[in-house]
Amino acid sequence: MTPRMIALRSSSLFDGSVFFDDGVTVVVDGESIAGVLRGHPDLGSDVEVIELGEATVLPGLIDTHVHLVAGSGVRALDLVEGYSDQEIEAVVTRSLAAHLAAGVTTVRDLGDRRFVVVNRRDDQHARPLTTARPWTPTILAAGPPLTTPRGHCHYLGGEVSGPVEIEAAVQERIDREVDVVKVMASGGMATTGTDVMMPQFSLAEMRLIVDLAHAAGIAVTAHAHALPAVEIALAAGVDGLEHCSCLTPQGPRVSDELLAVLAERQVPIGAALMAPPPEAFEHAPPNIKKVMAQMGMTPETMLESRRSMVGRMHAAGVRFVGGSDAGIEPFMAHGLMRSGLGFLLSAGASVSQTLAAGTSLAAAACGLTRKGFLRQGFDADLVVVDGRFDSDLAPLAQVRQVMLGGRFAPAGL
Ligand SMILES: [Zn+2]
Repeated sequence: MTPRMIALRSSSLFDGSVFFDDGVTVVVDGESIAGVLRGHPDLGSDVEVIELGEATVLPGLIDTHVHLVAGSGVRALDLVEGYSDQEIEAVVTRSLAAHLAAGVTTVRDLGDRRFVVVNRRDDQHARPLTTARPWTPTILAAGPPLTTPRGHCHYLGGEVSGPVEIEAAVQERIDREVDVVKVMASGGMATTGTDVMMPQFSLAEMRLIVDLAHAAGIAVTAHAHALPAVEIALAAGVDGLEHCSCLTPQGPRVSDELLAVLAERQVPIGAALMAPPPEAFEHAPPNIKKVMAQMGMTPETMLESRRSMVGRMHAAGVRFVGGSDAGIEPFMAHGLMRSGLGFLLSAGASVSQTLAAGTSLAAAACGLTRKGFLRQGFDADLVVVDGRFDSDLAPLAQVRQVMLGGRFAPAGL
């Protein structure tokens, strides 16, 4: 077979960090990027030229926090426990398709039921890219999140109590070669009976989880709404935080010291770029209503307080990454990553900072060294959108084509 080189000519490109706006050529060689050139130079007859016209090419989006087993309906996680094997597989397939159509080329699943998604990932590893497997984003998977008995998302199968069970559970994840260990450091909004204001694990337990995972070369990310849970997770040395809501009974509280630690360590924070829209509160889980009553907040003040906290943290240099918590509610449906990124933009980030959060910074948060940038040697995972980015993310709503590993996904997936 002759080597397969393609040149994509477009008016604009975002390389994962900066924009180029006066004509760009991306050269793709097999599964990777051979180079990114200014202008539209003649590359000879061995290279197939594809004219994209008025379009922006950007790295495929990387969603660092999804729940493929959840089907994007109202309180969708509650349904997962009741699914048959066949139903859960069908939901995972639909979730993946929705991400790909929205330009998401890699997903990191942080809330598996048993190990359904890990198995799907293994299946993906076993087959060559795109030729023998369905067109889906690359899957990274954590398996079921570690949680306390009856703790947040206990029905996903990750309950542990005490050091012996913790060790066994982490070992099981090491044996299955998970891409990251996810731990529920505080209660969660979606699980009635848990307390989002309280830590679920002690510092010693959290350290045990982190040390065991790190000894096997695996990163740990912690779901943390409660301020003390954020502090415990950081003290234990986690590699990432999810939500990082810093909730106290008096409302969200981020001290200057905590801000400095987060900025200095550049801990990636995912699934933070959102608050339920006011109209969603009618069907909200009881825990959200309880927390709002405790803090004396309305849906509107909650949204604004979240936005101002994210804005303050961003301005201080804290690292947010795109992670949509996809699948658990209609307003957090699979494929809506751009709305979370839009939240970061509305909190004061620039368009290029926002897109970096969904590409290069998200790749780094997932430990991916060949994804997230359109640069020589990186995987040819990219998205083509119409027109150019101006002051908002509107082009992301118009994904024209998605390339995975050097091949364009067929239209109408
Ligand atoms: Zn989640």
